[in-house]
Amino acid sequence: MLISINSTLDIPAAYRKTPVGLLFEYHNIKRQFDPYDKAQMLIGMCMDNRKHLNIPDNFAFIIRAGGANLRLSEFKVSYAIAVGEVRHIVLIGHNNCGMVNLISRRNEFIHGLVEGAGWDKERAENHFFQFAPMFEVGNEIDFILSETKRLRLIYPKVQIAPLFYRIEDNRLYLIKEDRE
Ligand SMILES: [Zn+2]
Repeated sequence: MLISINSTLDIPAAYRKTPVGLLFEYHNIKRQFDPYDKAQMLIGMCMDNRKHLNIPDNFAFIIRAGGANLRLSEFKVSYAIAVGEVRHIVLIGHNNCGMVNLISRRNEFIHGLVEGAGWDKERAENHFFQFAPMFEVGNEIDFILSETKRLRLIYPKVQIAPLFYRIEDNRLYLIKEDRE
């Protein structure tokens, strides 16, 4: 399901010599940083604090959102393509994501808003039930694959790759796709 990238030879031909391949080289293979004066790609990744990418300055636009869910960030994606001229996007999921099984955190979420933000309970409950279905990830890998397919349909000329970040080793993996 996950493809390890430990040398440039591990990068599939479709991604080699593209910004997607370069991302793997910088982060996993410690390629020396090249100078950039404009963004080469867009990275969509989770807001989770346990992840840090090893990339050069100016290399990428980054949108961070729970679960790397870009469903409510499409205008920003379009901006990066139209104005930022990027033609490559990666979506980076990760293991142990807090957006998996959100419903199980219902009480914690509602209580936390009441205690931490000063909301009343009803408002906090409504907020949770209005938005949780939109942000629920289900399974991290399946979600990234379905988001990848969805964005490919919206932006057919842009290369979009599904990636995975393992918290334990801080490395990026390519998610294997069943291409028809
Ligand atoms: Zn996450």
